[in-house]
Amino acid sequence: MVSLLLLPKTPNPLSSIYTPNPFKSLNPKTLKPSKPNFKPKPHNPTTIRSVLQWNRKPQLAGDTPRVVVITSGKGGVGKTTTTANVGLSLARLGFSVVAIDADVGLRNLDLLLGLENRVNYTVVEVLNGDCRLDQALVRDKRWSNFELLCISKPRSKLPIGFGGKALIWLVDALKAREEGSPDFILIDCPAGIDAGFITAITPANEAVLVTTPDITSLRDADRVTGLLECDGIKDIKMIVNRVRTDMIKGEDMMSVLDIQEMLGLALLGVIPEDSEVIRSTNRGYPLVLNKPPTLAGLAFEQAAWRLVEQDSMQAVVVEEEPKKRGFFSFFGG
Ligand code: ADP
Ligand code: MG
Repeated sequence: MVSLLLLPKTPNPLSSIYTPNPFKSLNPKTLKPSKPNFKPKPHNPTTIRSVLQWNRKPQLAGDTPRVVVITSGKGGVGKTTTTANVGLSLARLGFSVVAIDADVGLRNLDLLLGLENRVNYTVVEVLNGDCRLDQALVRDKRWSNFELLCISKPRSKLPIGFGGKALIWLVDALKAREEGSPDFILIDCPAGIDAGFITAITPANEAVLVTTPDITSLRDADRVTGLLECDGIKDIKMIVNRVRTDMIKGEDMMSVLDIQEMLGLALLGVIPEDSEVIRSTNRGYPLVLNKPPTLAGLAFEQAAWRLVEQDSMQAVVVEEEPKKRGFFSFFGG
């Protein structure tokens, strides 16, 4: 089911992302969309579901565990940030989550979560028989239903032969745990489309593709979409990260509507550029835990809601209301 983003009457800092932007200099037509006939669905208010509602828990759709790979192609677009924030949002909503850092050699999910000092064992040691799986699972200090699993030590190389089959074994072992199977297994994918990427996507049934509104990231996202589909992953949703409304208004950045038309993917969330993200990364304290919540934190939470309900949002074109003249402007002329 597709939901539409409700645009409030009051000025919303996110609203201009939904305005059309020809952004001709980038010529989006040169990027071949995966689904050329993608058409935004018409506005139907009865389809609205996954907006944050504090008085209810989102309804978990699909069979558990939901094995979701968070991928992008291009590096540095926000995969790890998304894994940490969506993962902790899911845990806060009461779902059990295991986040696997599959970015071998360059792992940093542990840093973003502030759990780096607690990772004693990794999957490599589990596979070598040096420890049990539960010893490699690092429970979050704040939300005990969130666990982190790292594939290997930082800067270490993977043993020869480690591949998709090992990850499938891992997912099966997580399903068979005494305390029960987790609701979500999130896999933080490495950048690129080489062996590490193939390994990370192998056990996944669904994918969250993170992209930023720039042409290099979009081209990589389009390529990755094709590879995911070839691997049999049909449920692919995208998160557009680091969106700047001022740049969209100035036609210096592509609008979300343009991106959705180019990639032809269901939209899980739109995350604004927010300096709080960088601050939270450096503190090892994911943004969604911030009080009061920040704009980007709320956007991640909303994306988590949609993920749970297998919902998506739709970028729509909104006409900007003409500025109302204030009462005293009557005297000003
Ligand atoms: P990836 O895992 O795709 O390589 P990261 O999640 O590590 O990317 O993010 C790369 C950098 O971008 C980090 O420094 C992070 O703080 C920053 N970043 C990610 N999303 C945002 C955002 N919405 N606003 C500002 N900075 C962001
Ligand atoms: Mg990363």
